[in-house]
Amino acid sequence: AVNLRPESRRFAIDIGGSLAKLLYVQREDEARQELGIKKLDETWPGAQLSVHIPEIGFILNFFAFETRNINDLVKFLRENWGSGISSKDVRATGGGAVKYAENFREELAVVLNHLDEMDCLVRGLNFLLTKAQREVYIFDHEPLLSAAMSEPASPSVFPDLENSRKFVDASDDPFPYLLVNIGSGVSIIKVTGFGEYERVSGSSLGGGTFWGLSRLLTNCKTFDEVIELTKSGNNSKVDMLVGDIYGGEYGKIGLDASVIAASFGKVVMKKEAPDVYGWAGMWKQFVRAIKGSSYLWLNFLLSTPALGRFLRWMGYDKKTQEKLANLGLRSAFSANDVALSLLRMVAFNIGQIAYLNSKRYDVQRIYFGGNFIRDHPYTLAAISFAVRFWSNGETQALFLQHDGFLGVIGAFLGNDD
Ligand code: ADP
Repeated sequence: AVNLRPESRRFAIDIGGSLAKLLYVQREDEARQELGIKKLDETWPGAQLSVHIPEIGFILNFFAFETRNINDLVKFLRENWGSGISSKDVRATGGGAVKYAENFREELAVVLNHLDEMDCLVRGLNFLLTKAQREVYIFDHEPLLSAAMSEPASPSVFPDLENSRKFVDASDDPFPYLLVNIGSGVSIIKVTGFGEYERVSGSSLGGGTFWGLSRLLTNCKTFDEVIELTKSGNNSKVDMLVGDIYGGEYGKIGLDASVIAASFGKVVMKKEAPDVYGWAGMWKQFVRAIKGSSYLWLNFLLSTPALGRFLRWMGYDKKTQEKLANLGLRSAFSANDVALSLLRMVAFNIGQIAYLNSKRYDVQRIYFGGNFIRDHPYTLAAISFAVRFWSNGETQALFLQHDGFLGVIGAFLGNDD
């Protein structure tokens, strides 16, 4: 545990639907002392990102915890700073700053000073756009971008991320721009000046949708595990491509054979026959048939008057429904392919909505933020591809080094900035 002098203004918290973000700010000299380090680019243990800003002599340490484990954040604060944060007022934003206020008061004697979420997002991004170096980048990896529609993940096109980021110089006049924040859900905000913005659109198909469906359809325990899976996925085994329908391209309207016609559409095309052969396959089919027919029988018996009522009273109706739902086609698709299909489905859709809104409001610059993006190559490629595809190459998606931490930076800066 590190001993710190109490100063509430060093901390800011942003508790969203999926992730709780913490920012802890140190001065350079303190960082050296506290961590016993010489080089300031060494990160704080457990930090997702540590940034040294020599111009202001500060080090910003960013941490993220899953909101469903909010007590991990409380514990982390207690173990590292304990009674050190004897503060009455830590700046906080996001819905969780209201929902979990009591936890912080009881466990840490910390009072969260709640700031508006959209205000914080915009303030955080405006700060980065005008003050930070090497913040905005374009994803510049042509092989992956060209393969972005439906080609399988392949090590030969897998990017060296550091060399695929093309940084864009800070501009004197960053306005107007669109911020597409992909957190659990998606918010699209049109920003015209410092503190001047309007939330013009949004979507409920966001990072929470991707992560939620991934938990449902794969056995992954963490978000990072799913992202790893996508790297060896082939979504054309799950998605219905133009070529699957036409046997080739649909030239008249300019659709290449590799264009996704329907995400997850191959599940519809799948024949019922199981994919395993030999003794193992026969055994599998046998077990499946027995299980299937017993639940089908149960389902039938549930519809009879007297016995049905008894079985429902025993709770067999729910159980039977669940079992029948699970006997479906899921086992015929591999989790890697499903993961990449989900990722591309969500990312393409957001890229398209973002582009349409940029047209609708006549704004050229589109920044993508939120923790859904982070530094995942297929996410970057799919969003970039969608924007380029729908704008006929006129618009490029802009990404941010601190994409997931805009809100917490805005909370740190506070209203009086
Ligand atoms: P929110 O404020 O709504 O929680 P974020 O900007 O923090 O939004 O983004 C949350 C999304 O980021 C998740 O829905 C998920 O898609 C993605 N994500 C990235 N890293 C993780 C992680 N370690 N655990 C869970 N989700 C993660």
